[in-house]
Amino acid sequence: MDEVRNLIIIGSGPAGYTAAVYAARANLKPLIIEGVQSGGALMTTTEVENFPGFADGILGPELMDNMRKQAERFGAEFLTDDVTRVELVDTGDAGSGAVSTVWVGETAYRARSIILSTGSAWRPLGVPGEQEYLGHGVSSCATCDGFFFRNQHIVVVGGGDSAMEEASFLTRFADSVTIIHRRDSFRASKIMADRALSNEKIKVEWNSTVEEILGDDGKVTGVRVRNVHSGETKVLDVTGVFVAIGHDPRSELFQGQVELDDEGYVKVQAPSTRTNVPGVFAAGDVVDHTYRQAITAAGTGCAAALDAERFIATLS
Ligand code: FAD
Repeated sequence: MDEVRNLIIIGSGPAGYTAAVYAARANLKPLIIEGVQSGGALMTTTEVENFPGFADGILGPELMDNMRKQAERFGAEFLTDDVTRVELVDTGDAGSGAVSTVWVGETAYRARSIILSTGSAWRPLGVPGEQEYLGHGVSSCATCDGFFFRNQHIVVVGGGDSAMEEASFLTRFADSVTIIHRRDSFRASKIMADRALSNEKIKVEWNSTVEEILGDDGKVTGVRVRNVHSGETKVLDVTGVFVAIGHDPRSELFQGQVELDDEGYVKVQAPSTRTNVPGVFAAGDVVDHTYRQAITAAGTGCAAALDAERFIATLS
């Protein structure tokens, strides 16, 4: 019979690596199945200025590499591949010997406890220029990047609560914020929409979609928008584009295995990281609708490792 591990962590963003540091230090010898894109969302960014402990900021990939090394130092094991299937079962009955199974292709890995930390993906516009200028004027996170757009003219694309919140927040830095929305009214709650609309720095391009993000010399210089009724196009001269049309948790693998909410986020019994399946815990952006920050993901990753450690102690 193959080995039964204490803990498998799926995902290698701040949540997964922090869980790995704590679990490895607790001598649980965790296996981290990192995903083929190890290191998570921060691998795609440059400067991270709001992760505590780095007074001068730190590059996203360097921060993630440090977290990985820290976990490795305490004996964490890594597999840089994607999980393709899971069978998550209640392992809570000490005598039953039940274990959960995680597959990478044909290879099965078994464990008494599992931490789900596969993150979420922001929904892209899918227009020319978006990927090219990502991190160079195009952003999906106002809290992360707003500070870099002081005294500039920028746009926010979207019409939901997140778009309203991002637009209002960005007025602290930018000279003007134009919300580009494809309809003639916002989907956002009235209070959020009213707050944005009453802000004198915020304008709205109603009934409009972004056709292309324009740039020069590696930086955003404008967006071409199209009016969905008249078909007319025009260029807005802006240096920043915040895409706020939604996030999708990466939880497809877990459908039918643990309880998900209406939007597909893994449900946990907050403030713990317990899912509805004993022995299965979840942390980071795959759970989090609200904060979506590296430090909050790291925080819940820590909590998940502690929850798993206490759970495993009840089995022996
Ligand atoms: P992620 O970091 O998304 O990691 C998820 C992991 O799961 C990845 O390693 C992925 O490969 C893995 N995975 C997915 N599916 C599978 C699978 N099937 N099998 C195995 N592994 C899988 N936050 C800040 O606090 N400050 C910032 O400055 C900041 N800047 C950002 C800039 C950008 C461009 C982006 C996109 C995000 C930024 N964020 C920032 C947000 C921050 O990156 C996220 O909140 C954080 O990374 C979430 O951590 P996580 O561990 O939950 O998930």
